[in-house]
Formats: sequence, C-alpha cells, structure tokens
Amino acid sequence: MPGHSQELSTRCVHAGEIADPYGSPHTPVYTTTTFKFPSTAALLDVVEGRKPGALYTRYGLNPTIQALEEKLAAIEGAEAALAFCSGMAAESALFLAHGRKGIVCLGDAYGGTLELIAGQLPELGIPTHLLLGGEIDRLPDLLRQGAGMVFFETPTNPALELFDIAAIAELAHAQGALAVVDNTFASPVNQNPLALGADFVVHSATKYLGGHSDLTAGALMGKKELIMPVWSWRKNLGQTIAPEIAAQLARSLRSLTLRVERQNATAMRIAEALRTHPKVARVLYPGLPDFPGHDLARRQMKGFGGMLTIEVAGDGKAATRVADALKLFALAPSLGGVESLVTQPCTTTHHGLTPEERARRGISDAMLRLSVGLEDAGDLIADLEQALG
Ligand code: PLP
Repeated sequence: MPGHSQELSTRCVHAGEIADPYGSPHTPVYTTTTFKFPSTAALLDVVEGRKPGALYTRYGLNPTIQALEEKLAAIEGAEAALAFCSGMAAESALFLAHGRKGIVCLGDAYGGTLELIAGQLPELGIPTHLLLGGEIDRLPDLLRQGAGMVFFETPTNPALELFDIAAIAELAHAQGALAVVDNTFASPVNQNPLALGADFVVHSATKYLGGHSDLTAGALMGKKELIMPVWSWRKNLGQTIAPEIAAQLARSLRSLTLRVERQNATAMRIAEALRTHPKVARVLYPGLPDFPGHDLARRQMKGFGGMLTIEVAGDGKAATRVADALKLFALAPSLGGVESLVTQPCTTTHHGLTPEERARRGISDAMLRLSVGLEDAGDLIADLEQALG
C-alpha cells in the first residue's frame, strides 16, 4: 500500500518481520554467533557496510536482532534502533557515545540511572548535573556552560511528574545539545518523544515492551547518524541483546498496543475508584483532571499509562500494611508486566536515599506505586479496597 502510513498496532505486528523461505509468519530465531559467506568479496561487502547482512551476533549483525530493531524503530517512528541486553546497557552506551561533554539529568529518574549519572560517569571525568523539576530554570545555564545532553523521564517514578518534551528539546537544541527521553513509563503507545522533537528515546524493554516480566532488554531509537556511534560502543562493550531474547521481545511487541490500552483503561478506573477513598490521601495519575500535569499529559500523551501512585492516609507503616495485605498485586519491583505489582518507593526504588533527600524529591513514606496489569479492573479494585480496609 504505497503512501499509506500504517497505524501502530499494524507496525507492532508486521514491521521488521523477514521473509522466511518456509513461510513462517515471524522471523526465525538465528542462535548462531557467526554467519558464512560465499566469498571474501561478499564478506567485505558486509564488513565495509556496502550491503546489509548478517556477520557476527555481538555486533548485532544477526537477522533476528536486525528484524527486532526494525520493529523497534517502526514503533517509535525512528530512522534506526538498537536493541540491548538491558535498559541500563542502552543508557550507558548512549552516555559514553554522546554524553561526554556533560549530562544534565532532569527530574527524578530510575535509581540505576541516577547512580550511573551522579556517581560513575563523573569517575570517568564526565561532568554531570542533577536538577529536580522545580530547578528547571537552571537548565539553560548548564547547557550554555557546555553540557551536551539533557536526559529525563516523563512521567517520572514514582510521583509521575511530567516534563514538556517539545519545550525541553527546543531549549537543548538552541544550545547545540541533545534531548533524550526515557519513555519506559509511557511506552510508545502513549507517547512518542521523537515526534515531539527529542533526539533519542531509550527504553527499559524489560517493562512494557517485554510486558510479561520474563525478559531483560533495552532499546534506543533515533536518527541513523546519531545511532551509529552508539552501535560501536555497544559492540565493544558487548551489550547486544541475545537472539533468543530478541525473538521473545519481538513476540511481546506484537501485542503491545492491546496490553497498554487495557492497562491505561484499568489504571484510570483504579484512579477514579481510589480518589475518594477515605483511606487514600492522594492519587497521582496523569489522567485525573486535578493532577498537576494533566493539561500537559493531554497535549503530549495519547494515553495516561498503566502506572499510578497512591498516598495512603497515615504514615509509612500504614502504607507497608496495605502493601503486605494486597493479594492480587504482587509486592515486587519493576513494572509494565501482565501481572499487577505494588512497591513502596521508600523500601525499594528510593530506599538508598536519605529521608531528607526523599522529601526533597516529593517522595513520602506513605506512597505506594502501582503497576497495573491485565487482570480484571473490578478484581484489582476489590483487592485494593480489602487491603486499605
Ligand atoms: N529506566 C527506567 C524508567 C526503569 O524503571 C528502569 C528499570 O527499572 C531502567 C531504565 C533500567 O532498565 P533495566 O532494568 O532493563 O536495565
């Protein structure tokens, strides 16, 4: 269908699949580490980049990985994508390839990201800066002083703070810097940062893209010329996704839209059910009209996501009692899977921070973060009500 641009659900199913001589509708799993050539000339065509082809799996030049990467690029509307063995692998290769002039991390971020940016990259001489959302007015100065990259999550973990992707990308570009969005929480179903002006999108594919809590992977999407330097870092740091996991991730991506749309709808129902609950002090969910980021969410998101955070009326111990009493929501870190999960940030994701630092970040001990799965919305609400009771 020339000239017809396919919708996301179609791209999730069909993009990147390679034609198989036996008629398999999906890309076969090529587990081999190497690929043979009929001649040295044919080998050199691939090695020297004149022809696409398979060569060596750690390079990512493996048909199963290449097919996945084409699908990943298609679902974020990117020119190119790279698949990694974890979300942290994608971030670290990106920072080493493009962040050496300096990185500003805006807002709250995943703990491993913060550790890498605040602690480890400076050990390599890379200047880094952490700004909270309320300190965003310092961003232009840091960029003028030479930082070459702004990195942020939106919505953030666990307070679901939203950042204006288009405005931040414009600010970054005005100073010759790159804008990178960790789109893990939103997923490509709900938000497309590249279309809003970001240069890179990074995903912990372990979450919504994988979607079943059974694989660890990462993805990076962007313009081909910007992706190529990251490819070299991935190759030599040895961070490429394994072909078996690539096939498993491609399988998951085929049902991405169905899963996330259902998770959006269920999260909205839970948010509405809990907002007036006497044992709940606050519900943080971008879909609620009185949520501080709601107007921005309506502008830059297509759906409000499957993540919500509640603040239990009472203290941290009260929240722990609720978390422990939940039966359908499993007490586990991570998110984005078919099963609903609950975490208390002060005992898991943000346990390593001092109470003062958590307070500075607006993270209270009474917060519980919910990752909504594919169970029935009524059953999940009943579980929350019995635990809160
Ligand atoms: N980004 C976000 C928002 C995350 O939540 C995580 C992990 O929890 C990561 C990145 C790191 O991903 P991975 O665990 O796949 O390395």
